[in-house]
Amino acid sequence: MFRWLKLTCRQVHRLLSERQDRKLGLMERVRLRIHLTACDVCSVVARQFRVLSEAVRRLGT
Ligand SMILES: [Zn+2]
Repeated sequence: MFRWLKLTCRQVHRLLSERQDRKLGLMERVRLRIHLTACDVCSVVARQFRVLSEAVRRLGT
């Protein structure tokens, strides 16, 4: 059930890095969020990306 919602960890990592450069679509964000609630590894990776993008924003680039 809801198989179409499932992303692999690899796909999630790609979306997280693409999110730095472009706005994700609604379904991409939903699928990302669903994966992140279920996957500890990707939650940690997502947090690292967030810290990174905060730092970049603070530098004003
Ligand atoms: Zn994962």
